[in-house]
Amino acid sequence: MPVNFENYKTIDSFLKEKNVKLVAVSKTKPIEDILELYDMGQRDFGENYVQELTEKQSKLPADIQWHFIGHLQRNKVKYIAPFVHLIQSVDSEKLLREINKEAKKNDHTIKVLLQVHIADEATKFGFDENELSEILPRIHEYKNVKVEGLMGMATFSDDEKKVAAEFEKLHHLFNQCNQKNSNSWNSLSMGMSADYELAIAHGSTMVRIGSLLFGSRE
Ligand SMILES: *Cc1c(COP(=O)(O)O)cnc(C)c1O
Repeated sequence: MPVNFENYKTIDSFLKEKNVKLVAVSKTKPIEDILELYDMGQRDFGENYVQELTEKQSKLPADIQWHFIGHLQRNKVKYIAPFVHLIQSVDSEKLLREINKEAKKNDHTIKVLLQVHIADEATKFGFDENELSEILPRIHEYKNVKVEGLMGMATFSDDEKKVAAEFEKLHHLFNQCNQKNSNSWNSLSMGMSADYELAIAHGSTMVRIGSLLFGSRE
C-alpha cells in the first residue's frame, strides 16, 4: 500500500495547529515508504521491534528521531541505546535500570516515557497507578535516564465514552505526576490512527500514527 500523502498533510497541519507532535509509526513498512515521508519533512518515526529498528536506522538519514514504542526486552536495550531518541514504552523498573546502565556506557542520557496501563486488555503492558506512584520518587536515582512523561494505549473499542474516560484518566495521572516533578515533564503520548483526535481533546501532546499514513499492516 502506498504512503497516503493527503492524510499526512491533513494530519500534520492539524497537529501543528494544536502543537501536538506526530510520531509516524513505520513498523513493518519498507524504508522507501519512510523516505517518502522524510522527504515531506517528517523526522519522528516509531518502531516496535529492535531488530527492525536497528536495520532501518542503519540505512536511513541520521537526523531521523527514532521512537521505540513496543515492549522492550532488557537484553536488547544495548542495540538501540547508542541512537534511540525516546523510549516510550518503559514498563518496569528493571527495564529502567537497564536503560540507565546502557546510557551510561554510551556516555549519554536516554529520554524515556513511562508506559501506563489504562486499557481493559490484559495484553497491554505498563505500570498501574500504584506502581507508578511507587516508582516516581526513585526515578531521579537513574542519572542517565531522563523521564519526560507518560505513554498509554486506550482499549480498542468503538465505545467513545470509554476510550475518552481512559485518556482522561491518563491525563489526570500525567498532571499529578508532573507536579511532583516540578512540572519538568513535556510529553503525554496517547492517540493512534483510530483515536488520536479524542486523545488530543483529552490532553495528548504526542500521537503515534501508523495505518492512516502508511496504509494498513498485514
Ligand atoms: C502500531 C502502534 C501504533 C500505531 O497504530 P495505528 O493504529 O496503525 O495508528 C501506535 N502505538 C503503538 C504502541 C503501536 O504499537
